[in-house]
Amino acid sequence: MPDEQIKINVLYFAAASTATGLTQELVPIPAGLRLSSLGDLLISRHPNATALRKILDGSKWSVDAEMIDDPEELELKGGQEVAVICPDAAYRNFVLDPCRDRHGHLTPRAAFRATRLTPTTFLISEYNDIYGEHPQIFVKLIRSARTILIIDTGCGGATVDPDIEITSLRKFIEEVQLDCNGGRPLNEGKHMEYVVIATHCHYDHILGMEQFNDSRILASSHSPSFVSPSNLPTHSLCESMGIPTPSYTPILVPHEYAILGMYIFHTPGHTPDELAVYDAAEKMLYVGDSLYEEEAIIFPNEGSIVEWMSSIEYLIVFVEAKENRTGEVLSATKTFMEDVIAGKEPREGDLYCGVLKGWC
Ligand SMILES: [Zn+2]
Repeated sequence: MPDEQIKINVLYFAAASTATGLTQELVPIPAGLRLSSLGDLLISRHPNATALRKILDGSKWSVDAEMIDDPEELELKGGQEVAVICPDAAYRNFVLDPCRDRHGHLTPRAAFRATRLTPTTFLISEYNDIYGEHPQIFVKLIRSARTILIIDTGCGGATVDPDIEITSLRKFIEEVQLDCNGGRPLNEGKHMEYVVIATHCHYDHILGMEQFNDSRILASSHSPSFVSPSNLPTHSLCESMGIPTPSYTPILVPHEYAILGMYIFHTPGHTPDELAVYDAAEKMLYVGDSLYEEEAIIFPNEGSIVEWMSSIEYLIVFVEAKENRTGEVLSATKTFMEDVIAGKEPREGDLYCGVLKGWC
């Protein structure tokens, strides 16, 4: 009998995913294959992906969620998860295929869909919420600390679809098997602790918070009164929306607060408590509602364009210093807003009521 062939699971992100048309594939490998030779093997499997060689030449590798500095030193043994990390994986808004279940169907009866962005990071979307907000929730697995870090908790699973069974974000994370996570729930067996970060207190970011009241919930200390229990119903917009304000007690953290390899920055502007989260290992920057790719930037009553400008300038300087590159999205957004102020770009109008789509 021939030896049982060993295989690895290769994950493709960003340009590598576009070139291959895949987000992952099981790849048989010869015994003793070094990581440095994997690129040639993948190129031979995808002869029509003409851009793949150039993409791989400019990419790095991770194996089982650890970045590899010297691929020549690492021998693949099978059973590993190898990811192609493209340079354009940083500072982008990804739109990838949603996760599917073991039978290739979309995870059908949950108010959420998950997409894998990096070896450790997943985007959970509430795709059919009753508010039309379609909130984005980011989940990072930090296995070394047995912790799951959650950035925002969305609209609490309130969906327009009466057939949906799973409306709890926590239940989705702990029970729904995801092919993009090797067929396992994100928190299989509930072995991981949670740390939850609120990018700000608008309702579409906090309606799932009560599900994590047994965990640390972090928020900005920039304006403690803004998020105080007495002001939260107004400032979360729950009051004007006619929905109960969730009850949770955040730990208010200072500017440039470090936790589990992540950094939290105060970025007031959209709201006084707006914050951004930087993942140093994955080079991902989460900006909350400070800016969007395709929606208007919103300044509610408590917002400040002056503070927003300062916050964006801070992030631009930070990215340039940390990454030795220009933050193109941040710079372009700042320039756009300067044009708006100068009257060169149209405003979408003055908003007075929190029920308008795209408010938060
Ligand atoms: Zn908002």
